[in-house]
Amino acid sequence: MMQILKSMTLEQLQELAAQMGHPSYRSTQLYEWLWQKGVDSFEEMTNLPKALREELAKESEPGGLQLLKKQQSSDGTIKCLFATGKEGSPPVEAVLIPDFYEDGAANRLTVCVSSQVGCMFGCAFCATGKMGYFRNLDAWEIADQVRHINRISLELYGKRITNVVYMGMGEPLHNFRAVLDSSEILTHKLGIGLSPRRITVSTVGLSKQIKQLADEEAPFFLAISLHAANDAKRNQIMPINESLNLDALRESLQYYHKKLDRAVTYEYLLFDQFNDSVEDARQLSKIAGWIPSKINIIMYNNVAGVSLKRAREERLNLFMRELVRLGVRATVRRSRGDDIDAGCGQLAIREGIKPGKTIRKGIPV
Ligand code: SF4
Repeated sequence: MMQILKSMTLEQLQELAAQMGHPSYRSTQLYEWLWQKGVDSFEEMTNLPKALREELAKESEPGGLQLLKKQQSSDGTIKCLFATGKEGSPPVEAVLIPDFYEDGAANRLTVCVSSQVGCMFGCAFCATGKMGYFRNLDAWEIADQVRHINRISLELYGKRITNVVYMGMGEPLHNFRAVLDSSEILTHKLGIGLSPRRITVSTVGLSKQIKQLADEEAPFFLAISLHAANDAKRNQIMPINESLNLDALRESLQYYHKKLDRAVTYEYLLFDQFNDSVEDARQLSKIAGWIPSKINIIMYNNVAGVSLKRAREERLNLFMRELVRLGVRATVRRSRGDDIDAGCGQLAIREGIKPGKTIRKGIPV
């Protein structure tokens, strides 16, 4: 079987170069080609000696996800579908979300990446949850979504991507090590070269892993998919809350904040007549006070087969007014790419797959 070079760290490439009798700087050049320059073949690695390229090609390949499909929304959002190359594995999706200046030039270029193929957490509003879980992505498979989209961004907008959010398919902290390792590729100066401050990892609230992020001083930002401000409502839409309730979440976030002195962001999808009352806003303001935080109120993109619907504008306004009155830092975010199903909670592979594993209770966390 061919060795996938992208699955190797820089240190492992250094060992490989040494075994092959090449100086260490060759591995640095190789890593740069794989990630920073993002080429797909050995032929393109022009500063490596031909003999080394030929030797590498005998037993290894650069590796990389294959772009199967690219769809562009009317608002500029681009959704990409990637084959992972693992037998029997459904493809995964990642999204490029551009923000534009008034003159039309691209400002912020955010990539939303997937960390798992499908997801077992079964949140009621989420299309990925309906697919079930298939497998964890490897670190390089997560980082390679960013490499691909970085190239698309350069082609379309003449600019490298600026931010990455782990908010695509899957629960990132359920694939903890691969997510941390992939973030190292994204922040490596020979890799994608992003500042960790431009990376946000989102979780439904896996308390043990949140504490582990604190213990390991993970440098990126943390976002919590909250979506309800009391246990009764959260239990209804997020099965994880039955094993890890809001008390458990609070305790882990206080631990996180104490260790890292860092604020978090809460993501709150606003659903019509479910979590959009003034009383919900009051309960949310209490959660906002646990540790320094800000709240993103997200207007939901309706998902076929889901009874929860997007909140109405007048209820959004009342909700926001109450948050402002209570001094909560909150921003309204319009979900993007609705017309190509690229919005929050809309990513799912529908064609040609049987549902994967879903555990609604007793999720192994
Ligand atoms: S919202 Fe996140 S954790 Fe919940 S089912 Fe969807 S992908 Fe999984």
